[in-house]
Amino acid sequence: MAYVIDQDSCIQCGECMNSCPVGAISEEDGKFSINPDECLSCGVCAGSCPQEAISEE
Ligand code: SF4
Ligand code: SF4
Repeated sequence: MAYVIDQDSCIQCGECMNSCPVGAISEEDGKFSINPDECLSCGVCAGSCPQEAISEE
């Protein structure tokens, strides 16, 4: 299980990337994504997102 970002809700603020303790979130061409192989499903990023765009898969 990993957390995923709803791209339709994301406003590309970067808060989630800054909050992830293991650096599992990256940005490429303005699109933020979570690497499921690195995600620990801790939920910290979901709590940091102002859009509530992150949820458990
Ligand atoms: S759930 Fe935790 S480990 Fe996974 S991307 Fe979010 S902050 Fe990082
Ligand atoms: S915190 Fe939420 S709105 Fe901001 S970049 Fe991450 S997913 Fe997008």
